[in-house]
Amino acid sequence: MRTVADVVIIGAGATGCSIAFHLARLKRTRVIVVEKGSLASGMTKRSGGMIRLSYPWESEARLALASLGYFQNWKELVGSGCGFTRTGFVTVAQGETQAAQLEHQVAMLRRIGAKAEILSREQLGELQPAAHVDDVTLAAYEPESGYADPIAATQSLAARAKKLGVSFHTGTFAKRVLVERGRVFGVDTTTGEIETMSVVIAAGPWSDRLLKPLGVKIGIRSERAQVAFFERPAELKAGHAAFMDSITGVYFRPHTFGLTLGGLTEWQSDAKPNPDQFEDTVDQAYVQDVHRRIVARVPAMVNARYVRGHAGIYDTSPDGHAVLDRVPGIHGLVVAAGFSGSGSALAPAVGACIAELVTEGAASTVDLSPFGFARFGLEEC
Ligand SMILES: Cc1cc2nc3c(=O)[nH]c(=O)nc-3n(C[C@H](O)[C@H](O)[C@H](O)COP(=O)(O)OP(=O)(O)OC[C@H]3O[C@@H](n4cnc5c(N)ncnc54)[C@H](O)[C@@H]3O)c2cc1C
Repeated sequence: MRTVADVVIIGAGATGCSIAFHLARLKRTRVIVVEKGSLASGMTKRSGGMIRLSYPWESEARLALASLGYFQNWKELVGSGCGFTRTGFVTVAQGETQAAQLEHQVAMLRRIGAKAEILSREQLGELQPAAHVDDVTLAAYEPESGYADPIAATQSLAARAKKLGVSFHTGTFAKRVLVERGRVFGVDTTTGEIETMSVVIAAGPWSDRLLKPLGVKIGIRSERAQVAFFERPAELKAGHAAFMDSITGVYFRPHTFGLTLGGLTEWQSDAKPNPDQFEDTVDQAYVQDVHRRIVARVPAMVNARYVRGHAGIYDTSPDGHAVLDRVPGIHGLVVAAGFSGSGSALAPAVGACIAELVTEGAASTVDLSPFGFARFGLEEC
């Protein structure tokens, strides 16, 4: 029997499941999601789940803000839970240059409708009494940011999409996108061909493997990233805000069960890690480095015990920003990949935008033109 779909999505991570959910909501077209593993089995299950608005680039901040609305109202908009926990989010700056950049960023966030404010060193000390603030020139504070459970969120999006009629073909590898005379006509998979005129590649760090045979590539670089979890000592049981700390070079946030999750803001990735086969545990030296830097900001963390950690692969585009666009020269093919360390936070709005692009020809939730192939010199033919 022929399998026919109006849209095939390749990849059932946060991005693919969000696109499926929004497509089903917008137009009950026949949508099939093809996933070589299981739901959220790619990099989504390795996400730190940090939800923040503090992106220096306005277009990304707009996606983050639109996504925050979903996380805050998940049960109403999607159903079941996504584990969203509001913690507040602090970004610290040191010196005049960093302080001016942060003030500029907060002004931009406020202009687009986000809740964000500048705090003096003293105000930060009052807000976060456990934090060492002597080295801080000023800070930005987002009261509404926090973290979510990326697996629960993705499963919730998929469950709702299924209810709305989307089919999920898990354990099915998409071998190639079928194209003739510059037009998509199907997807060849390990369980047979699917006829379709519209394909969305949401395959994270594997996306270029599907694009290359078609003569296109984003140039995604795989980067191994790690996160470590520490058990907070008794005096910090009440927790702390999430921090993006470029002074000490660490980001960290509270996690459920009295834990704190942390990672480095800058690190040396292994050379060309393979997303199918990489070291998925945390390096001991990394754990010590993260711990030392967290202690520099929150001294009471000196007694925190390392509990566990994991690594994953960032899909980093040549300019570090996602590519959300039609593929130049191939009618019916769209790509949503290259999220680096931000894909689970941006997924709700990215899904809405890609669904609008596919069904209505352009995104209205957020303008996607800055995320196009054109910025790399590739125009749609
Ligand atoms: C350690 C770490 C920490 C992170 N922390 C954060 C964070 O705090 N906040 C945040 O927002 N983001 C974070 N990220 C990034 C986030 O995890 C990703 O950006 C996000 O999960 C990307 O989702 P995705 O659906 O695009 O990709 P993925 O989740 O990788 O999904 C792609 C899917 O495509 C499938 N696939 C690939 N090729 C094929 C094929 N040929 N056929 C069928 N299926 C295929 C894969 O199996 C996979 O399930 C982190 C990432 C890592 C590694």
